[in-house]
Amino acid sequence: MKQLPPDTVRLLSSSQVITSVVNVVKELIENSLDAGASSIDVKLENFGLDRVEVRDNGQGIKAVDTPVMAVRHFTSKICRHEDLEHLETYGFRGEALGSICAVAEVAVTTKTEEDEISTQYTMDLTGKIVSQKPSHLGQGTTVSVMKLFKNLPVRRQCFSSTKKCKEELKKVQDLLMAYAIIKPELRLMLVHNKVSNSSTQLKKRNKHYLYTTFKNKVLVHTGKAEHTPAIKVIKKKATKNANKNTMKKKD
Ligand code: ADP
Ligand code: MG
Repeated sequence: MKQLPPDTVRLLSSSQVITSVVNVVKELIENSLDAGASSIDVKLENFGLDRVEVRDNGQGIKAVDTPVMAVRHFTSKICRHEDLEHLETYGFRGEALGSICAVAEVAVTTKTEEDEISTQYTMDLTGKIVSQKPSHLGQGTTVSVMKLFKNLPVRRQCFSSTKKCKEELKKVQDLLMAYAIIKPELRLMLVHNKVSNSSTQLKKRNKHYLYTTFKNKVLVHTGKAEHTPAIKVIKKKATKNANKNTMKKKD
């Protein structure tokens, strides 16, 4: 017998932690909730395979913690296993960001209340920071995950058909809907393939979703109306002011 090389061990164990697009979205949303976010924006490109981006307005990551934020088994949530008895966070194993770095390209932009400006960090496969630059984003954290499973052809293969990709998108929608229902005070948005180049054809081809929760109601703005029980459907495109409009629209 021979011991596996560290790179192979990292890839194999990371691919057990990060198994799908919905799994990435779940881990990132839970980090945002642990950071006390009241607003979370999820953006996907090509069903999340090209890009998953989760932006929050939470407390951000302290500059002193950033060098290890994506190194596996580093966490700010517990110090020892006894802490598990008083756990109040979704995460505690310090595995998500590190595992995502092993199977995708990752950039984290973050700003705490104390920081004057935000900083964008890019990580390598081991979760170590390889570059950093100032950014314009406000308080909170934005995690961008590009080229998911680029080094895991078998996992990538799982999303090779449009049917599978659509099923995965549906799982992401269901996940967001579940959080929206249990956290009525949370503003939660999902956009798939939103294009800045707003030609009518592109807009028609791509769906835009906006979930907003307000007073125990989930309001759904979408390019195409989705009928889900107990959900009020507003047939309106997501706009910058959608949240404002939603708040006015009490019934
Ligand atoms: P865990 O959530 O189990 O601690 P993760 O790998 O998901 O492990 O995250 C590592 C650490 O990075 C967290 O403990 C937290 O300190 C920080 N972190 C990650 N995402 C965010 C975020 N959105 N806002 C603030 N801190 C974050
Ligand atoms: Mg986590």
